[in-house]
Amino acid sequence: MRTYLRHWACCLTLLGMILYLGSCRPTVTTVAPKEKESAGYQGQGKSPIVPTIDRPVQRQWKGVWAFNDSTTYFSNDFEGARLNGVAQNGPDAFTIWITAENTPINVSPWYAFKVWSSEPREITVQLIYQDSRSRYYPKISTDGVHFRALDSARFTPINPGEGEFGIKAAPEMARIRIPVMATPTLISAQELYTSSVVKTWIDSLVEKPFATTYPIGSSKEKRPMHLLEINENKDAKKAVMVIARQHPPEVTGFLAMKSFMETLCGNTEQAEAFRKEHVVFAVPLMNPDGVDNGHWRHNMGGIDLNRDWQNFNQPETRSVRDFLVKKDSTYDFVFGVDFHSTWDDIYYPLDTVVTGDKGKIVFDWIGGITKRLPQKRTNISASDQISPTMVSRTYFYVNHGMPAIVFELGDNTPRDFLKQKGQVAAEELMRLLMEE
Ligand SMILES: [Zn+2]
Repeated sequence: MRTYLRHWACCLTLLGMILYLGSCRPTVTTVAPKEKESAGYQGQGKSPIVPTIDRPVQRQWKGVWAFNDSTTYFSNDFEGARLNGVAQNGPDAFTIWITAENTPINVSPWYAFKVWSSEPREITVQLIYQDSRSRYYPKISTDGVHFRALDSARFTPINPGEGEFGIKAAPEMARIRIPVMATPTLISAQELYTSSVVKTWIDSLVEKPFATTYPIGSSKEKRPMHLLEINENKDAKKAVMVIARQHPPEVTGFLAMKSFMETLCGNTEQAEAFRKEHVVFAVPLMNPDGVDNGHWRHNMGGIDLNRDWQNFNQPETRSVRDFLVKKDSTYDFVFGVDFHSTWDDIYYPLDTVVTGDKGKIVFDWIGGITKRLPQKRTNISASDQISPTMVSRTYFYVNHGMPAIVFELGDNTPRDFLKQKGQVAAEELMRLLMEE
């Protein structure tokens, strides 16, 4: 008779907790001048210093939701899934709850689920988020590999937001119409790049004779922390450090990093010359547990990894710290970049007030990218805070002397542009480093 659900009650145990608007780096001190009317995304304000010792994480119940009077089924039983509860409201109408791994947490409500039905039909699904709003526009896939944005005629925002950027600009909830059939249709916040998909990509690059991969540690749940090393000339002593995906939903940052790395590995004259003098170390997936568990932000220690670069309480950040400490005696680190995603494309460098001439290359690099790929506006938000190090960029600079940046791509930046931007960013970096 009734709709029955399994275990959706557990998902609502985290109510009443406070959210905070964390950002990918701690402080904003200067903002590039912009036109008055639409100033663009200005970056988030100063983030609080937070402890990074373990906090409990609510594990997601995994399985299939079935209903007595329906032939439609929902599942979260796959890597990267997030679906915390389903209710049936009518013959072909359902409500879905999306909750966070723990709170307080940044408002990045990741979701991913599969749905199918023994007979082809159209269903309506209402997406409801724990203390959050509908930030991510739904993507749809029937093979788990190729994703596209859901047709806008199938998307109804409920209680639309206000303004241009930030969580307040997002609708409170969303109602979507999905065609379902006997084979599963996947709905997700962004394209799915789980740890196994990322590893397949790393392995494809490792086919090149100058690329290798090896683990530099393990995550909390013992997933390997894969490092990708681009090393064509064993005598090269200059090194670039690249990391991505400290924050699981930040797929657009990952996509730009992917293109960036592929360009550095390319067979252009520029890339070949660059590799004669430079080695590149990359950790393309900093938070494999968070990604595979469909987290909004944190690792399995319940912590925002990009707050742990001072105290190193988490195994993921420790593995990169130990790796850098080991390599520091052999290499001169000349550039560091940490890829993220937020409301719009934005650069978070360290202010040259702090870095002096050494940090100028970061601004030259931003200028080079901007010149070749003009966007409506170039959002730059520099920080002059270097203590505590707390975030990767600051740690890279303070402890290893490398000019470094948090490179943020917009959640909705067109995917072909992301690819182009990753490529241009790599080309401009190679050009500047070869000029030095
Ligand atoms: Zn981030």
